[in-house]
Amino acid sequence: MKKISIVVPMYNECEMAPLFFEAVDKVLASISGYEFEYVAVNDGSKDNTLDILKDIQKNKDNLIIVNLSRNFGHESAVHAGLMTAGGDAVIPMDADLQDPPSIIPEMVKMWEEGYEVVNAQRSSRRADTGFKRNTAGIYYKFISKMSPKVKVPQNVANFRLLDRRVVDEVNSLKERNRVLRIQIPFVGFKVGTVTFVRPKREKGETKYNFSSMFNLAVSSITSLTSKPLFSLPLGITIGLSCTLCVSALAELVLFILSCCNVFPYINELGYGIWLIGNIILLFACLFSGVLTLFGAYLEKISEETKDRPDVIIKEVIKK
Ligand code: UDP
Ligand code: MG
Repeated sequence: MKKISIVVPMYNECEMAPLFFEAVDKVLASISGYEFEYVAVNDGSKDNTLDILKDIQKNKDNLIIVNLSRNFGHESAVHAGLMTAGGDAVIPMDADLQDPPSIIPEMVKMWEEGYEVVNAQRSSRRADTGFKRNTAGIYYKFISKMSPKVKVPQNVANFRLLDRRVVDEVNSLKERNRVLRIQIPFVGFKVGTVTFVRPKREKGETKYNFSSMFNLAVSSITSLTSKPLFSLPLGITIGLSCTLCVSALAELVLFILSCCNVFPYINELGYGIWLIGNIILLFACLFSGVLTLFGAYLEKISEETKDRPDVIIKEVIKK
């Protein structure tokens, strides 16, 4: 009998853990002819997620708990799960039921039809905040522009069905900067798609703040391509945008100062100096924009050369 592994990363998910297994169990019971295994990865939770998982395991023979040595982050937690999962197919999904288990039967059906990767694509993000919707939109558009060869699908995160061949290829990638949504299109294979409407998180809070979303975007781009390093239009765009922002801010400060007569800027210095100042600012920003871009790649190279593992598994708890 073929085995399917469900990989679920958990960070402070004590409220969601019981609901997750209850909801997924219901769906899996409707799929006959397969053996199912859960790989729950406790990503250094600060709440009692681990204890709850251990409790659930008492009545669940097919639950493997992977306990990490600290919090490594979503992508690394999924990687630990992929390394532990033993199924002929593996389905990574979030613990908060924003990846609805109801579409698993359709994913399995497509797998049986010969698709080695079945993407679960969000057809709507109505449940997300406007900010998240917009930033995600920019992120996916930028990524698709940057990757003519590796086709990264829009609005597909980690919720997918992966055939064993694909999991093995992804696991064999040596890089430390691991972004699954880039690695899967990179390894290729036959891809099918199932669409779904993304619901709201049932309980608990999102662990993605602005800085973790920004880091994911930088990791994705550097993982996908080195094109921004030698893309002149991109360098100029970044530089010009920085200039506009810094220049507008500087003008505002100087205007307020001159209004308060603290620094009679416009009157005394004159427009000539104002213009020269702005040109210098333009070049300064242009260079700092390009340097920041170089810095992002340099940081990734530095991380890779250290050759540290991206995740450390403290223990694998089986029943
Ligand atoms: N997660 C994790 N480690 C982290 C952050 C998140 O394992 O450091 C897990 C989290 O428990 C959830 C999944 O990753 O199962 C997605 O997180 P979240 O729902 O907060 O992300 P969002 O849906 O808001 O993008
Ligand atoms: Mg979520």
